[in-house]
Amino acid sequence: HDLRNEDLKDMQELGQGNGGSVKKVEHVPTGTIMAKKIVLIDAKPSVRKQILRELQIMHDCNSNYIISFYGAFISDPNICICMEYMDKGSLDGIYKKIGPIDIEVVGKVALAVLEGLTYLYDVHRIIHRDIKPSNILFNSKGQIKICDFGVSGELINSIADTFVGTSTYMSPERIQGAQYTVKSDVWSLGISLIELALGRFPFSDSSSDDSDLSDFEGTLSPARPGPLPPLTRAQKDKKKKRKSRGVSLQGGGMTMSILELLQHIVNESAPRLTPEGRFPKEAEDFVDSCLLKNPDERRTPKDLLKHPWVEHSRTATIDLEAWASTF
Ligand code: ATP
Ligand code: MG
Repeated sequence: HDLRNEDLKDMQELGQGNGGSVKKVEHVPTGTIMAKKIVLIDAKPSVRKQILRELQIMHDCNSNYIISFYGAFISDPNICICMEYMDKGSLDGIYKKIGPIDIEVVGKVALAVLEGLTYLYDVHRIIHRDIKPSNILFNSKGQIKICDFGVSGELINSIADTFVGTSTYMSPERIQGAQYTVKSDVWSLGISLIELALGRFPFSDSSSDDSDLSDFEGTLSPARPGPLPPLTRAQKDKKKKRKSRGVSLQGGGMTMSILELLQHIVNESAPRLTPEGRFPKEAEDFVDSCLLKNPDERRTPKDLLKHPWVEHSRTATIDLEAWASTF
């Protein structure tokens, strides 16, 4: 039956993203606890209705690895999406609270995300487009599920037109303006897994000579669709100067740093699970295969489900419910 805003009682703010905010709410008539995502979009009523129609596909997305969907409605000027509430929140929040995540747990995350992506693509031909720790959710039953996938083309357009950030989980081919494929999600998974295992965003590696990149926290705005221009000589000079003085630029300088990071992803070798020997060889190898810069060489989620580390993770007996009770 139709969800109505009047039936939802706000309980708690769960977080803010670039495109809106998420609240824990109670659906009073049924007593169901839900997460309500409020997406502010500047679009015509006809476009809003189209988005709402497209979102209905989520009713058919039934998988243990995908957040369930209760319904969506327009609450002018917003679109509200009501979904399953995950009481342990997203994995970025978890590692920021407890530090680097045990590699066995990270293996379960890899398995869950690959299963979710394979389901979305095989059954619905949906590409996620926004894999990152804040879109991987965990609950006290020990379940790992993905959310915020690109079901509605119209919603993707509306958000891109307004203000959603360029994600630093974006694959090199996407940064260069290529179409999204399921392999772009695999790249984003690789970056996310390193982040969880190390407890920090991988492009903040202090061994890289560009220590400025450590300022990054994932998503940056405004959107920068399409290929990026090369650095101009003036920008390069500025960069040199800044490095030699060790100062970080404010304001407009931020834009420079976004360019630097995106160029870094395109031009430098991909990050790895380091230091060598700290993690199982199979985990290192899995991450390396997610982060092959050439999308033709990179495998699909379905194919990666057969990787030895993922097969190991499938049979691993680590008790995620017990782990969840530790924080
Ligand atoms: P971005 O806007 O860049 O995608 P984000 O994913 O952090 O970033 P939102 O999708 O708006 O932004 O989510 C905000 C926060 O709300 C998340 O970080 C997550 O911790 C929390 N959250 C989202 N969905 C749920 C849910 N179903 N259950 C519990 N917490 C959730
Ligand atoms: Mg999100």
